[in-house]
Amino acid sequence: MVTTTEPKQQVKIGPTKLLINNEWVDSVSDRRFATINPSTGDMICEVAEADAADVDKAVQAARHAFKSGEWRNMSATRRGELLYRLADLIEQNIDELARLETLDNGKPLQDSLGDLGLVIACYRYYAGWADKVQGKTIPINGPYFCYTRHEPVGVVGQIIPWNFPLLMQAWKLAPALATGNTVVMKTAEQTPLSALRVGELIIEAGFPPGVVNLLSGYGPTAGAAIAHHRDIDKVAFTGSTEVGHLIMEAAAKSNLKRVTLELGGKSPNIVFADADMDAAIAGSHEALFFNQGQCCCAGSRLFVEEKCYDEFVARTVEKARQRIVGDPFDSATDQGPQVDQEQFNKVMSYIESGMREGAQMLCGGQQVGDKGYFIAPTVFADVRDDMKIAQEEIFGPVMSIIKFKDINEVIERANNTMYGLAAAVWTQDVTKVHAIANNLRAGTVWVNCYDVFDAAAPFGGFKQSGIGRELGEYGLQQYTEVKTVTIKL
Ligand code: NAP
Ligand code: MG
Repeated sequence: MVTTTEPKQQVKIGPTKLLINNEWVDSVSDRRFATINPSTGDMICEVAEADAADVDKAVQAARHAFKSGEWRNMSATRRGELLYRLADLIEQNIDELARLETLDNGKPLQDSLGDLGLVIACYRYYAGWADKVQGKTIPINGPYFCYTRHEPVGVVGQIIPWNFPLLMQAWKLAPALATGNTVVMKTAEQTPLSALRVGELIIEAGFPPGVVNLLSGYGPTAGAAIAHHRDIDKVAFTGSTEVGHLIMEAAAKSNLKRVTLELGGKSPNIVFADADMDAAIAGSHEALFFNQGQCCCAGSRLFVEEKCYDEFVARTVEKARQRIVGDPFDSATDQGPQVDQEQFNKVMSYIESGMREGAQMLCGGQQVGDKGYFIAPTVFADVRDDMKIAQEEIFGPVMSIIKFKDINEVIERANNTMYGLAAAVWTQDVTKVHAIANNLRAGTVWVNCYDVFDAAAPFGGFKQSGIGRELGEYGLQQYTEVKTVTIKL
C-alpha cells in the first residue's frame, strides 16, 4: 500500500436545494444538513433536507405532471429526444460532474469518469427504447379484437444509494422516463450533490415541470415517506437488504405499490487451477477492491482451488500491497476513502471479527493516514464459510480467500447464502464454465471477467439480493403496466 498526497483540485458545487416542479426550493421545515468530504471528514456544504412534507409536495407535482399536460401528450419519440439531450448535456459537463462525484463520494477521479461513461450510455440506451415499447395483438376466441398496451406505471418513487450516485440515478431515471412515468427520487444522504447538478441539466434539456423531482434527505424520514406514500404507484430501491425488507413492508401496508429491489450480495468468485492465473489474480483483485470495496456485487467470497491456492494467495497479497491509497483527485490513486465514518467503523469491525474468528490476515487491517476514512487493502486467507466475514456484506476493501477441492463442493458452498446477486468463475474448461453458469443461484454470472456492465444487459438479484431486474429490455418491464383492450367486432 502506497499513499498519495497531491492536492485536490477546485470543484464547482452545483445546486443545494430540492428540485420540485422544475424549481429549486428550500425544504418545508427549512432544515439543511451537511454533506461531508470523506477524504478529510470536513463539511463540503449544506443541502436542503427533505422529509415527509417535501415528499408530499414532490408527489403532488409528479402526479400533476403525470395526469395532465405536456408529458402525457408528448410523443414517445420526443421523450427519447429529451433523454438524448440529457445524455449530451452530461457529456458536455463530464469533468465537472466527475469532480463533484469524487469530492462527495471519495472515489478516484478516473472511476468517476468511468461511471459517467456508463451513465451517458444508459440514458442513450433508454432514449432509443422510448418509441419502441409496444404491446401485442392477441387472437382470442370469439368475435373480438384484443390487444395490449404497455402504459407507464404512474408516479414512481426511487431511492438510491451512495456507492454509485450518478450511475444509480441513471439506472433509475432512464427507464422510468423512457416509458412515460414521473419520478420522485431520494438520493443518499452521503452523496446528494452530483444528482442535483444533473437536475439542472434535466431542466436545461427541457423536461416539463414535475416529471423529475429530486430530494436530498435521510432514509428513515424522506425515504420512508416515499415507501409509505399512498399516491406513489411504484417504488424502486437500491441499498441494503435490511432496508429492502422495510420498503416491501411499507408498500404492503400502504397501497400495494409495485416494488423493485436491488439489494446486497456476498458474491462467490471461483478460481480453478486451470485458469489463466494472471487474469484470475488481476480480475479477482478488481472484483473485490474496485470502488473501495463498496459494490453490491463485489466478489467478496473468493473460492480458490486447493491446487493453486498457495500461489494465488501469495500473488494476491503482493498485488493488494501495491494498491495506491490516497487523494482521489490524484491520477495515481487506485483507492480513495470509504464514504463516511459509519461505513469506516463498520468495515474496521469486520476486520476485527476476521482476526477474532481466526482467519489469517496477510496485509492491511489498519487506517491509512490520520484524517478521512481511508482503509488499507486487507486480505484474509484461510477463511471458513461459517465466519462472519464470509457470510455478511462488508462493503469495504477486505478480501476473504476460501479454499476448495472440487467443483460439486464449491457449487454447494457458493450457493449456501441468503444472497444471489452475482458470481464469477475463472477457468479454461468449458465444462466447468457451464456447470457454474447453470448451477449458481445468482442474477449475473461472469466467466473469466468481472464487473462487466452494459446498459443492454440486465442486472439484479436472486433470493434476498432483490426483486426485478434493471437495465436492458427487462428493465423496461418494471416501469410499465400491461393493459388488455378487447373490442367486440
Ligand atoms: P441503506 O441504508 O440501505 O441506504 C440506501 C438508501 O436507502 C439511502 O438512500 C438511504 O437513505 C435509504 N434508506 C435508509 N433507511 C431507509 C428507510 N427506513 N426507508 C426508506 N429508505 C431508507 O444503505 P447504507 O446505510 O447506505 O449502507 C448500509 C449497507 O447497505 C452497506 O454496508 C451495504 O451492505 C449495503 N448497500 C448496498 C448497496 C447496493 O448497491 N446494493 C448500496 C449501498 C449500500 P440515507 O442513506 O440517505 O439515510
Ligand atoms: Mg459526502
